Amino acid sequence: MAQASGCIFCRIVAGEIPSDMVYQDPEVIAIRDIRPQAPLHVLVLPRTHLVSLAEVDAAQAPLLGRMLLVVKQVAEEAGVTQGGYRVITNIGRDSGQEVPHLHWHVLGGRPLGPLVSRGL
Ligand code: 5GP
Ligand code: ZN
Repeated sequence: MAQASGCIFCRIVAGEIPSDMVYQDPEVIAIRDIRPQAPLHVLVLPRTHLVSLAEVDAAQAPLLGRMLLVVKQVAEEAGVTQGGYRVITNIGRDSGQEVPHLHWHVLGGRPLGPLVSRGL
């Protein structure tokens, strides 16, 4: 599916909702998260609508590889490679996925603490 009506990230890709875009190419964009959880909090997503990693198959392998290279480039350009950073993708209900359009969170710029929040 190229675009899904009502999908926030499809609307950002289409330019209908403004975003702070830090990278774009014909297949992938990277935008600053509207509610950043760290000094660096960028979302890397495909222009095409895919709900999550649960929906992809081998046909998307090249796209997934390119997205991860964009993740790496975003981190390098933000200067967090030496200090380290975290890459997260949420999938479905138990992950708390809020926006059902595949994306990688790139987080860095401070010590990020435990991977999974305690006390849930
Ligand atoms: P998820 O829970 O789906 O993995 O993460 C969705 C992320 O998208 C959240 O961190 C949220 O702050 C971010 N977000 C939601 N709406 C918008 C928006 O309109 N613009 C931007 N830049 N980020 C958004
Ligand atoms: Zn979408």
